[in-house]
Amino acid sequence: MNIHEFQARRIFASHGIPVPDAEVATTPDEAAAAAERFGGRVVVKAQIHAGGRGKAGGVKLAASPAEARINAEHVLGMKIKGIEVRRVLVAPAEEIASEAYVGIVLDRARQADTIMVSSEGGVDIEEVAATMPEAIRKLAVDPRYGLLNHQATLLGHHLYDDPRAARQAASILGKLYEAYRASGATLAEINPLIVNPAGEVKAIDAKMNIDDNALFRLPDIAALRDLEAENPAEARAREAELSYIQLDGNVGCCVNGAGLAMATMDLVKYYGGEPANFLDIGGSSNPEKVVTALELMTEDPGVTSILFNIFGGITRCDDVANGIVEATSRMELRVPITIRLTGTNEEEGVAILAEHGFEAMIDMDRAVETAVRRGN
Ligand code: GDP
Ligand code: MN
Repeated sequence: MNIHEFQARRIFASHGIPVPDAEVATTPDEAAAAAERFGGRVVVKAQIHAGGRGKAGGVKLAASPAEARINAEHVLGMKIKGIEVRRVLVAPAEEIASEAYVGIVLDRARQADTIMVSSEGGVDIEEVAATMPEAIRKLAVDPRYGLLNHQATLLGHHLYDDPRAARQAASILGKLYEAYRASGATLAEINPLIVNPAGEVKAIDAKMNIDDNALFRLPDIAALRDLEAENPAEARAREAELSYIQLDGNVGCCVNGAGLAMATMDLVKYYGGEPANFLDIGGSSNPEKVVTALELMTEDPGVTSILFNIFGGITRCDDVANGIVEATSRMELRVPITIRLTGTNEEEGVAILAEHGFEAMIDMDRAVETAVRRGN
């Protein structure tokens, strides 16, 4: 789950990280009023679930409340990476002597929460990683001990020559790690971490991703979900308890089981197609899930062919067949559908489909090849 900068700022601040005050505004008037309270010189920042707002014109400095109003008029309603901006954050503008990067990410390859720091902050960290990987220092945290003081101190000194700044950075890293752990995060990032002319180190940006699987035990964090900021199809799929990730391709894939879903997507690519989604209807036998799955794929304008690939175990082929019949009776199918069913109650499933004019295949290769061809 993604959360907004203003939410991540509050979490960081609650763990003692120095984060300047800020207010959220949904109208230019509110932005101007916030700027007034902060003494006029402010920064106005788009609040959306995407990075690179600065480059896209979503972060603007203002010298007065009147200018803050103009900035907010400009940024509110603007689209960044296809996402409409509905809120801006207004914060006192900081004077910046230097910008650094600090982040913690769950590194699956290292199987550890990994701290990354770089004095090349402010810019895209992916770009730094690609062009000068030596500028990023990484440390895998041993979960038995957490981040130890001497480790944080070394990282602080990697960032700053000035020992006062290094000490502040070390303390901030310790707090960032606490915030990360306490929030069930898979990512916590400050970019940029700044030093101001007075030598104070502060976080002026905040980003967090939360592990969906941690939300059941963290109701306060779960409540931060902003449904309006999420992909509507994915939000609907989550409600229906489907695992669904929208992709850019044209072959809609409805599969039971994550492993089979991955294998199906591989095979779609093998036969020259592009999967339009990852969709796992899970191991249950609920025809309603099939209905929602078919609706999601049908509503995706990029889909030109739909493929069902069901390996019946706990999932029963006749239930899936009933779901397909039910769903197609409720809506117009605008693209060809290819069905492969095998396993539990396969014969019943095939018979139900045949009764309603659908042909079901048993062979996965043949079905995928057919679905790809029909989509071209
Ligand atoms: P992002 O581009 O989405 O990561 O948004 P950021 O919050 O990181 O802002 C982008 C850039 O805008 C920063 O790297 C800074 O250079 C600049 N910026 C943001 N806030 C301030 C501020 O308070 N004062 C100044 N002088 N620059 C700022
Ligand atoms: Mn940033």
